Amino acid sequence: MPFADLGLSDQLLRAIADSGYDVPTPIQKGAIPSVLMGKDLIGIAQTGTGKTASFVLPMIDILAEGRSRARMPRSLILEPTRELAAQVAENFEKYGKYHKLSMALLIGGVQMGDQVKALEKGVDVLIATPGRLMDLFSRGKIMLNDCNLLVIDEADRMLDMGFIPDIEDICTKLPKQRQTLLFSATMPPPIKKLADKFLTDPKTIEVARPATANVNIEQRLVVTRGDKKRDVLRSILRGEEFKNAIIFCNKKTTVRELYTSLKRSGFAVGQIQGDMDQSDRIAEFDRFKKDEITILVASDVAARGLDVKGVSHVVNFDVPWQPDDYIHRIGRTGRAGAKGIAITLATREDNEAVSAIEKLTGIKLPRSDGEQPAAATVEEEAPREERPAKGRGRSRERSRERAPRPERPAKAPAAAVEPEVRDAPVATTVEPKRSENAAGGWNGPVPSFLQFSAV
Ligand code: AMP
Repeated sequence: MPFADLGLSDQLLRAIADSGYDVPTPIQKGAIPSVLMGKDLIGIAQTGTGKTASFVLPMIDILAEGRSRARMPRSLILEPTRELAAQVAENFEKYGKYHKLSMALLIGGVQMGDQVKALEKGVDVLIATPGRLMDLFSRGKIMLNDCNLLVIDEADRMLDMGFIPDIEDICTKLPKQRQTLLFSATMPPPIKKLADKFLTDPKTIEVARPATANVNIEQRLVVTRGDKKRDVLRSILRGEEFKNAIIFCNKKTTVRELYTSLKRSGFAVGQIQGDMDQSDRIAEFDRFKKDEITILVASDVAARGLDVKGVSHVVNFDVPWQPDDYIHRIGRTGRAGAKGIAITLATREDNEAVSAIEKLTGIKLPRSDGEQPAAATVEEEAPREERPAKGRGRSRERSRERAPRPERPAKAPAAAVEPEVRDAPVATTVEPKRSENAAGGWNGPVPSFLQFSAV
């Protein structure tokens, strides 16, 4: 099905063609016509499936009619992190280039003055993180009673970050008669409850389960000792197949230390973690996008959903504590049909976390030994920092990155199914076609080409 059949305006079709897209992804096919018809929607999809365009595109056409008033945004998009909010704003600019819509970005960590000025002029689209929005609302700088379209993006991540009470609060401040779109990679009970409470007769579209990994990503596990991890990493970064990498660490302190160590070793490296100012985070990300640096050391929250084409490697310097994070991390490579390599460095201490990942993905990660695997013992390893206590804090954005996510049961891997579109009276499930959506999911057993090559 071509984009032209989805009911979008000619200006949008032009902007889509300029972006180089040929066909809509499954979430776009499923969502766009319904959103244009004014229906509420639940999109069960993760980043990498084209979900941002699935709401941004129809919103642009909906908002093309009508005018904005001072301090009264006409639509609101809630994002869990500043980076995702900034990325959605970029999408609006890209697809809205033939429209005259105004937009404001309300995110923590940047000066409020300009954001307030933009709001006072009146905006068609407000993209916000819940904490900053609530701050401005409580200061009377913003009114939500003209906001007839609400998008709650990455709802499960919002839950993990303790934003759900804020979101409930925000929903009650919007007009009752409105269109609400909710996107989430998973539908845990609190999100289902949120949807039941604030959406009206929604259409549900589900694409590739979060427990699936992209077929273009070659996954490897290197078993090593804690005190050898940096050496193993350096050899990966000096390897022939290496072009550029995002390296994930579990803690901000590890990001900082690793960044310093790699810089000292002469690598063109940047870092992105929650203790940095928003402007510095964006600057680092831009340097990486422009190839001024080839390595970005990152923490999960700061890097979630970051979209850079042509990342050759993702390295998990630490095995993520939450298996879902593994899927999100490795999804930074192998995007837009390109091949990618995801290497996870694990010590024996990480056995449990590795098993959880393998259970979630349904893939036994091909293992190789690091330099001195046989001698590895917990005692020999470099001391690991304390893992923070579990909890679901409600403190504002800056501290949120410190709050770990609560335990979630590992999900069973999705069954291997043939691509198909199933129509149900209420819910529509769209499984992505592999050939159509390279960034989409793959549910089957490990294919033979996923051979391990030693690092
Ligand atoms: P998202 O899931 O919104 O993070 O999008 C993932 C990536 O897919 C982004 O780089 C988009 O620019 C790209 N994308 C979105 N829609 C399409 C499409 N129809 N065809 C090809 N790429 C797309």
